[in-house]
Amino acid sequence: MSHVHTHSFGFPRIGADRELKRAQEAYWRGEASLESLEETGRILREHHWRLQADAGLDLVPTGDFAWYDQVLTLSATFGNVPSRHRNGAPASSEGDPVVAPRAPCRDVDIDTLFRMARGRAPVGEPSAACEMTKWFDTNYHYLVPELHPAQTFALSYTQIIDETREAIALGHAVKPVILGPLSYLWLGKEKSGSFDRLSLLDNLLPAYNELLAALAEAGAEWVQIDEPILVLDLPDAWRQAFEHAYHTLQTHTPKLLLATYFGALKDNLATAVQLPVAGLHIDAVRSAEPLRNVVDRLPTHKILSVGIVNGRNIWRTDLRRVRDELSEIHERLGQRLWLSTSCSLLHVPVDLNREDQLDPELKSWLAFALQKAREVSVLSRLLSEAPDDAAKAALAESDKAAESRRTSGRIHRKAVQERLCAITARDTHRHSAFAQRIKKQQALLQLPLYPTTTIGSFPQTTAIRQARRDWKRGDLSPVEYQSRMREEIADTIARQEQIGLDVLVHGEAERNDMVEYFGEQLDGYAFTRFGWVQSYGSRCVKPPIIFGDVSRPRAMTVQWARYAQSLSRKPVKGMLTGPITMLFWSFVRDDQPRATTARQIALALRDEVTDLEAADIKIIQIDEPALREGLPLHRSEWQAYLDWAVDAFRLSACGVNDETQIHTHMCYSEFNDIIDAIAALDADVITIETSRSQGELLDAFEQFQYPNDIGPGVYDIHSPNVPEVESMVSLMEGAERRLPKERLWVNPDCGLKTRGWPETEAALTHMVAAARQLRRQHSTGHTTNQNIDGE
Ligand code: GLN
Ligand code: ZN
Repeated sequence: MSHVHTHSFGFPRIGADRELKRAQEAYWRGEASLESLEETGRILREHHWRLQADAGLDLVPTGDFAWYDQVLTLSATFGNVPSRHRNGAPASSEGDPVVAPRAPCRDVDIDTLFRMARGRAPVGEPSAACEMTKWFDTNYHYLVPELHPAQTFALSYTQIIDETREAIALGHAVKPVILGPLSYLWLGKEKSGSFDRLSLLDNLLPAYNELLAALAEAGAEWVQIDEPILVLDLPDAWRQAFEHAYHTLQTHTPKLLLATYFGALKDNLATAVQLPVAGLHIDAVRSAEPLRNVVDRLPTHKILSVGIVNGRNIWRTDLRRVRDELSEIHERLGQRLWLSTSCSLLHVPVDLNREDQLDPELKSWLAFALQKAREVSVLSRLLSEAPDDAAKAALAESDKAAESRRTSGRIHRKAVQERLCAITARDTHRHSAFAQRIKKQQALLQLPLYPTTTIGSFPQTTAIRQARRDWKRGDLSPVEYQSRMREEIADTIARQEQIGLDVLVHGEAERNDMVEYFGEQLDGYAFTRFGWVQSYGSRCVKPPIIFGDVSRPRAMTVQWARYAQSLSRKPVKGMLTGPITMLFWSFVRDDQPRATTARQIALALRDEVTDLEAADIKIIQIDEPALREGLPLHRSEWQAYLDWAVDAFRLSACGVNDETQIHTHMCYSEFNDIIDAIAALDADVITIETSRSQGELLDAFEQFQYPNDIGPGVYDIHSPNVPEVESMVSLMEGAERRLPKERLWVNPDCGLKTRGWPETEAALTHMVAAARQLRRQHSTGHTTNQNIDGE
């Protein structure tokens, strides 16, 4: 049988050494020229195409490189540039002018992109940046296209076309990858009033046709057009619009490969297979649907690209299992079968071979972007009648890794599994209901009405980070480091006393990152040296790897918490990262359900919680900022997820006595539609972001009676601006209209680690003043009522 065609969706553009990050930031700081930034980009593209072609892929991608974000590049391509970011925009343009920009902007360059993404660039006037939000259920953030009624689009910026020519000139067979029109509109946001984004489709399609024609002219035989929204529950109007859109885009050159990823097509399968395109790509890793279902319904002239190597995780593919899975459809489809990764490799680090300090056994279980590209090629060769020796050797190596993962004592720990089996419903319930607990807690803590607190971290100054670097490098002894951190804690406690906060924190000086700090102390976690993944723009994260059963060899935070509490008579909160956040901000195991991993982490945290309680820490906060992120893309799967997520949180929190007060914290996501699950966590107190969404969350409480204590964040910590007392009082008054005042706390909306001390102290001083004003208003209000009653 003939060769199975292979292709790539996209390679991590940042570079193995984060070269792009460095070049971007140097350019933004004015330390490097535009030419040197462009040169770095060119070198990276050339290198990445070479790597993928050498890995054996038949088609390498273009359109995956971006100066900031690929959705932003597409907006620029169609001239969809907010008027405030256009060249020569008036200096005063804060937000959009009254007249919306309905015509495309023809004058787009790299600085335009940076003004849109960051609000400023070396050239042009600063103004508010475009909104950024999470790309489906990944940790990557894209720039949200701004859309106006009756807006028009036209080919205005040629980066994707130019880079396609560039790759072809280097001798590569290329396949440009662009986001499709329906996903583009779906992911956009309407500005200047609400209207139906779908109404812009007919204005947008001609611009797509222009782009496709230009790509064909540049020499692209195939164009991959991504419609990831096909894995969502779509309103009928959107689903129906696909047919119209793709009939309008129908072309012979280039041929279109319609790509879907991050889930199963479910109700959209019929739509997807029937569209007038030359090929369809499906994510066979995330979709639980048997491949056969798709093949059965695929028109006989179409290519089916199967994404079988996981583009979202770092595990080596079990080549034998996958080859066997594919062999039946390979027989049916023959040359019509293509192979690829499940989605773009944007979401994984670049090259495993860079990792020189990973344990060799663990390393043998992993694959990063480059290794995954090779796996795709090997799979194609294994499907041929006479696989070459290299492919056979790769298969043998994969077998070995799969076997050692199944049996390794590094992964499977009997004690953890036995403990997991022994969990009962009692373990996920507090002894008493909230109403009783809060009385006991109040009697112990004696807090005023509107107690004030913060979310946990205080400024991570350069001095703190320098001390940590020196310690890691061995220039500072562990004892010296310890005492430096103690000084920081003492200073942070003293400042909070001075400001007059009611519930203090130790400030998290000793933590580099809220997940890494705990992961480094838990068994079952590993850390890479170079495993960077782009989060947005020039920002990268290095997620830990959960590879085995998780357990806690020893207490992680008790020493620090005990020390901090010894410095004050006010309660100092113990501070932990919750099981769901520990899970979602890591690369997780694929050999057991995530729910199981979450429970293991929860048990480890539970031990920490009870150790803190035993050390006389009266308030313990378990942060879960990632709770909402884990929501499945299909609503029908939400409840099952929320059930296990809530269960894991409760397992971590419920080992304590009634008197111990459990806090949690969440931020920067839509909470309104999961508010019941948040209540089900049964934390005694939640501090939650509300200030950026202007109290949108509070509206949810008109319908839903949130039962426990809650601190709606009263100011946005992302801005160095010092909030006014009045604005915080009025936000709390809004809260008071929906929630009993006895239940309310006063706090910022997130941790303060990215801020400096001067604005932090000023802001918190105002916040404490706001709480005092609220207390005064309350007590005078109270007196008046009593007087009236007495009359
Ligand atoms: N306790 C953490 C902090 O204050 C919480 C961070 C977060 O919500 N992302 O930094
Ligand atoms: Zn937060």
